[in-house]
Amino acid sequence: MSWFPSVILRPRAGTLIVLGGSALGGAAYRYTQPTSSSDTSLNPHAFTPYTLVKKQAVSSTSAIFTLRNRNGSPDPDSVKEGWKRSVWSVQIKQPQLQIARAYTPLPPAEAIQKGKREDPEDIRLLIRQEEGGEVSSYLHRLPEQSTIELRGPNTECELPHDIKQVIFLAGGTGIAPAMQVAQAMARRTDSKMHLLWANRRREECIGGISDETESNKIVHNRSAWWRSLLGLSQLAAEQTLVDNHSAQGKGVIVQELDALKERSRAHTKGLEVHYYVDVEKRFIKPVDVARRLGLDAPEEKGSKVILVSGPEGFIEHWAGKKLWVGGREVQGPLGGVLGRMDLKGWRVFKL
Ligand SMILES: Cc1cc2nc3c(=O)[nH]c(=O)nc-3n(C[C@H](O)[C@H](O)[C@H](O)COP(=O)(O)OP(=O)(O)OC[C@H]3O[C@@H](n4cnc5c(N)ncnc54)[C@H](O)[C@@H]3O)c2cc1C
Repeated sequence: MSWFPSVILRPRAGTLIVLGGSALGGAAYRYTQPTSSSDTSLNPHAFTPYTLVKKQAVSSTSAIFTLRNRNGSPDPDSVKEGWKRSVWSVQIKQPQLQIARAYTPLPPAEAIQKGKREDPEDIRLLIRQEEGGEVSSYLHRLPEQSTIELRGPNTECELPHDIKQVIFLAGGTGIAPAMQVAQAMARRTDSKMHLLWANRRREECIGGISDETESNKIVHNRSAWWRSLLGLSQLAAEQTLVDNHSAQGKGVIVQELDALKERSRAHTKGLEVHYYVDVEKRFIKPVDVARRLGLDAPEEKGSKVILVSGPEGFIEHWAGKKLWVGGREVQGPLGGVLGRMDLKGWRVFKL
């Protein structure tokens, strides 16, 4: 089964060129060429205006941006197909600087939680404000009802049609592609997904408790202990976030992961979520991956894939650097921790 990664060429000075893979058929779009805004649905050729209808804080540095097509146009088929089998992104334009960055739509809330209705055309993005980051800082400064221009979709990779098992290593906002994969896997009968999500601070995943019962107890105790070591001001900040988020004391993303788990129960062997928090001295370890490689019978049919998504350093640590070859970003050889492990036939893809 083949993967079809898109290629994103991003020279630093504001040019952004996307060579789309598979569904987007290898066409090249050059940001530096004049682009026209169109009042139609999302498309890869021109920026389409959306309205920022809601900005929901997730932590002190990240928020979910809900964007609604200004024209009320329906999603193109490429988006509908994208939700079924791929990891995909959109680009957002910073109009003053004329630069664009990629962001990964979260699954529609109504697709995660049955009965929770939201406009199906809304695009939701989890965006972290990078310190000194041009586009993310610009976006975080925008008030609700602002116009934001989007272009896409861009396919980052396609899931093999026979995919049965996924181990997803996500760092920080790498959770967004993980949620895309989780909702796609929820449609695949008998599939199984292990999601290992690492964050620097607990505020990104308040109330997130890993699925395994034994380690739950340990994590719980450790969390309580670490909380007791934190300063009062941090506790107060955490409390405000908890109050903002939910009566049950769970962060927004944690609640959505719970809902995805619930949804995956119907047809699959389930979605397991494991939380790791740096300041609590809980890091993903090789053994956490190794024990999930062999859980299922080796003769079981279907593709088994390890996906790694997050900041550059996170991807490099786990799977080695992605490379630039002839002006194109490519997977590069498997390196890092996974490169030194016996992966028992599992394939690795760096997002
Ligand atoms: C396919 C894809 C999907 C993505 N999905 C998401 C997503 O869902 N959510 C999300 O939050 N992000 C996502 N990203 C990352 C996103 O595209 C941006 O890279 C991110 O928001 C930072 O962009 P920026 O313009 O704010 O920062 P930039 O201006 O690009 O700066 C990035 C960092 O580099 C530092 N920096 C800038 N210039 C210099 C310099 N000259 N020397 C040294 N340091 C410098 C800045 O201080 C900052 O910390 C995705 C990226 C890709 C490729």
